[in-house]
Amino acid sequence: FKTQWELLAALESWGIPVAPHRKRCHTLKEVHAWAHKIEHNIRGSLNFAIDGGVVKVDSLRLQEELGVVGGRDPRWAIARKFAPDIAETQLLRIRVNVGRTGAVNPYAELEPVEVGGVIVKLATLHNADLVAKKDLREGDWVQVKRAGEVIPQIIAPIPEKTANRDKVLKPWKMPTHCPSCGTPLEREEGEAAIYCPNVRCPGRQLEGLVHFASREAMDIRGLSYSRIAQLIDAKLVTDPGDLYCLTVDQLLKLDGFAQKGATGLIAAIETSKAQPLSRLLNALGVRHVGTIAAQLLARHFGTMDALLKATARDIGGVRGIGTIIAEGVAGYFRDPSARALIGKLSENGLTLEEPRPAATFGELSGKTVVVTGSLPTLTRTKATELIESAGARVTSSVSKSTTFVVAGADPGSKFAKAKELGVEIIDEAELLRRVGRE
Ligand SMILES: [Zn+2]
Repeated sequence: FKTQWELLAALESWGIPVAPHRKRCHTLKEVHAWAHKIEHNIRGSLNFAIDGGVVKVDSLRLQEELGVVGGRDPRWAIARKFAPDIAETQLLRIRVNVGRTGAVNPYAELEPVEVGGVIVKLATLHNADLVAKKDLREGDWVQVKRAGEVIPQIIAPIPEKTANRDKVLKPWKMPTHCPSCGTPLEREEGEAAIYCPNVRCPGRQLEGLVHFASREAMDIRGLSYSRIAQLIDAKLVTDPGDLYCLTVDQLLKLDGFAQKGATGLIAAIETSKAQPLSRLLNALGVRHVGTIAAQLLARHFGTMDALLKATARDIGGVRGIGTIIAEGVAGYFRDPSARALIGKLSENGLTLEEPRPAATFGELSGKTVVVTGSLPTLTRTKATELIESAGARVTSSVSKSTTFVVAGADPGSKFAKAKELGVEIIDEAELLRRVGRE
């Protein structure tokens, strides 16, 4: 071999594992660009921790000439360190938030701290059980982790940093009533999540509309969290159907809206009417229905009308849809307020149909793929579209017939299942290679 690069390529061709994200750089600028990409886009999706990369002189002849200092420090290799991605700070308060499906989840307010080059003030706590299991208390010192673009998480408390902790800090208790509407909270058997059952709960409405407008769902540009809160406060909007009745004049009466912004937002709302049924199904926030289930349902039934006529049994018969999702969907559409909402959306000219997918052959033709965890650059919707346009089927659960699993950060049980079944697991970069995008 003449170069490090050739050596690595040869090792790889012999089946010896080598780092997949290597790059051959010609200038220091390229090295920094590579390091930046690894640190901010790739690191979070790896299933092992890294604190940097190694930059090596490529030519083996030059390596020899440069030599090794004291028999252990080569002059031709140097570590390029990343910002540390774990920090210690104080947990100021544990608050709870009402999600769009009514799920009430705790989150942490932190003394601001720098983690991985970003100031972190909030961290997810997932659910009440996890807070109890980790015995997190308001006032605790905690270890905070942030990897890639993922929401920061609390790894564990550091009890020894608080003198007399057991006397000073009280164990945290989940509230018994909804922080937004005061309705007693409910817990479904066998589920970790706790719900506010009130469908008219303002907390649910806000989060529901935020999800409806989000990039993964109806993708309404300019309809931000604060804008939606403003529209709800002004009593202009309570459900997604109301968005399509908004006028430029109504918006102009609100704080912070000028002609251009108001016209732009109304145009963006108008554009979203053409979104396919799959995006609308995801946008509605039916419990257990995410991007993939929404696409499976939309493709199978084709129109909203057909789906509304389907029984839980019909829905459960769709390939890739399990009983829990089927019951959830049928239950949702039985609800008169959901039916009324669909009617309102239909009257306002939304598409309510799914176009037939064009590609039946491609790089991944005939393959079955599962996506799990958050990917460094692609949203779940984009990843699914990309895989399907290459001819593969995307399913929501891992089985023996799964060809491979694309795993991002925090992959969860699908990742474990794939390992257990020996299904191949790849990252986003490898996926892009396989669909011919990189
Ligand atoms: Zn509530």
